[in-house]
Amino acid sequence: MRILLVEDDPALSLGVARALEREGWGVDVLNDGEQAAAHGLIDQFDLAILDLGLPKRDGMEVLRGWRGRGAKLPVLLLTARDELGDRVQGLNAGADDYLVKPFDLPELVARLRALKRRAEGRITETLSLGELTLDLAHRELMHRGERVRLSPRELALTELLMQRAGRLVPKESIVATLSSWESDFSENSVEVYVHRLRKRFADLGVAIKTVRGFGYVMELAEAS
Ligand code: CA
Repeated sequence: MRILLVEDDPALSLGVARALEREGWGVDVLNDGEQAAAHGLIDQFDLAILDLGLPKRDGMEVLRGWRGRGAKLPVLLLTARDELGDRVQGLNAGADDYLVKPFDLPELVARLRALKRRAEGRITETLSLGELTLDLAHRELMHRGERVRLSPRELALTELLMQRAGRLVPKESIVATLSSWESDFSENSVEVYVHRLRKRFADLGVAIKTVRGFGYVMELAEAS
């Protein structure tokens, strides 16, 4: 998934961005409220983490602006301990959750997963296709009770494809999801990753089909 992080404390945004990237998520970082408010493509993100105390324009104003423009993505607010009133206001202004600083990174990650799950209308933290099961909370892909070992990016790609199993996943959305703050991911690298996954999944009963010029579809392999 692709996350927008708006936070003006450089050490904090670096730490958070690293933690999210370790989950295999793509992260874009902005560090003031004006940039965040002016961002024209908010809905291309799956989630936003928004600090309340931001330079130029505060987080609340940014959030109201986004919601006013019809942006539907889940938003998690970061607040300082003394901003209780702001938290309530924030929830009223359309935030979906908040976390008080200082917070633990694993808790942030768990909250983001829960927000994503709610947004997708899922009850459980697992995705399945045939005999493959992906445990999203523990980042484990299992096949008939055995773990299939993948790199974080391979797992992130598998997650994206399994979420939309049987449907087309456009190449651009794969690029956007797997790109990170520091390194851009190209369409060529998508092909490399898809190629690797195909090899890994060759005996596991699922196939990744290419829809030339558009993207990929993950589905059950036809019995041979
Ligand atoms: Ca701040």
